[in-house]
Amino acid sequence: MDKKAVTMDKLVALCKNRGLIFQGSEIYGGMGNTWDYGPVGVELKNNIKRAWWKKFVQESDNSFGIDAAILMNSRVWDASGHTTSFSDPQMDCKNCKTRSRADNLIEAHSKGKVNPDLMSNEEMQNYIAEHKVACPKCGAFNWTPIRQFNLMFETSRGVTDENQNKIYLRPETAQGEFVNFLNVQRTMRAKVPFGIAQIGKAFRNEITPGNFTFRTIEFEQMEHQLFCKEGQDHEFYDEYKQKAFNFLTSIGISAEHLRFKDHDKLAFYAKAACDIQYLYPMGWQELNGIHNRTNHDLSRHQEFSGKPMQYLDPYTNEKYIPYVVEYSIGADRLTLAILCEAYEEETLENGETRVVMHFAPSIAPYKVAVLPLQKNLNEKAMQVYKDLCKDFMCSYDEAGSIGKRYRRQDEIGTPYCVTIDFETLENNTVTLRDRDTMEQVRLNISDLKNYIQEKIKF
Ligand code: ATP
Repeated sequence: MDKKAVTMDKLVALCKNRGLIFQGSEIYGGMGNTWDYGPVGVELKNNIKRAWWKKFVQESDNSFGIDAAILMNSRVWDASGHTTSFSDPQMDCKNCKTRSRADNLIEAHSKGKVNPDLMSNEEMQNYIAEHKVACPKCGAFNWTPIRQFNLMFETSRGVTDENQNKIYLRPETAQGEFVNFLNVQRTMRAKVPFGIAQIGKAFRNEITPGNFTFRTIEFEQMEHQLFCKEGQDHEFYDEYKQKAFNFLTSIGISAEHLRFKDHDKLAFYAKAACDIQYLYPMGWQELNGIHNRTNHDLSRHQEFSGKPMQYLDPYTNEKYIPYVVEYSIGADRLTLAILCEAYEEETLENGETRVVMHFAPSIAPYKVAVLPLQKNLNEKAMQVYKDLCKDFMCSYDEAGSIGKRYRRQDEIGTPYCVTIDFETLENNTVTLRDRDTMEQVRLNISDLKNYIQEKIKF
């Protein structure tokens, strides 16, 4: 069998046609860089989030989940530094009015050889001038000077027009975990080291969004903050790097398509930071980040809120502000990586091609499809479907040739197809077809549930 590489165009088309992901507000001409998950896509993303939660909350004896508010007191963003420094260096092309990020222009122009993270705005501006880096849209070399552009979306809260307070849509979920550090510690009687995890929406007014769901203005993050004592931070940093990597391979991403990339430039408070990158169709790109943030975040909240953020060690009576090891991954970027990884165009032995999504069965949107071979078998097939859908996301399809129905299921990655035929009426057996091998086995209906359950375990 021959595997052809996936392109973003093919993936976008498949996602649109098979109910995975649609353009946001499509009937109004779309809303740039917003995407809606359809009936199949929402199952896939939910399964990915569930797998993450299982690994980082359920199976972890010292981690606790929360779901914090998106809108937070504005002082939170002063303490975190977002109001003053959560910005990107932006330049506008005076010719075609397109906005670009100076750092991205340099990265693209130098083909990744020059690292703009290490440059000041002035140095970036000099580089662009010296190398005559042109606008990627119109080719002109006619830039405004670099300006810092804050990425937070602002809104306002107030009952009258005159009395409005500026508030923000959170640009990251992390602050929800930090401000609840003591609430979780106290109510769960947690002892440091322990973790707080959260899955939730974040919003960024990105200057150059794109590449399908890779960089959007509204996205979901899955985050785990590990609170520990200074001195334990190195060990936890290494542990979470490994845990993050193992999680990705456990849900079907091949290790050859993943790599660690240390940050060249650290924030002034950070001790270590790295990304795990995935080999997307457009090249190696960040999939998640792991940071040793020292006690910076809790110290800032102590300073700005005036509330002590110290932990009292019950064994030693020592009081201290814990260090934080942060692990943060975008649910949408991960879903995109899973889609890229799963996609295959197979040339079959008879010369035909089929598109098949090889999702790990544990995260596949639908686990099983029930397909009656002929119309007069529909009633029996419906009974089997009604029974199976109590336990699994199950699809029922009676339209078209059996070959076409198999292809439809292959394209949404359903690991098993159950065919109801005349023998089913005689002895209650069905054929079960495996998506990847296309091999079929004959099973008793009463054994179906256990068989599938075993295969789709996380
Ligand atoms: P990038 O360098 O790609 O802008 P970042 O370093 O700013 O990302 P973090 O702030 O560390 O990202 O966010 C953690 C994770 O959230 C990222 O690794 C990524 O998976 C996801 N993420 C961040 N920004 C976006 C976005 N605009 N669209 C989709 N996912 C995002």
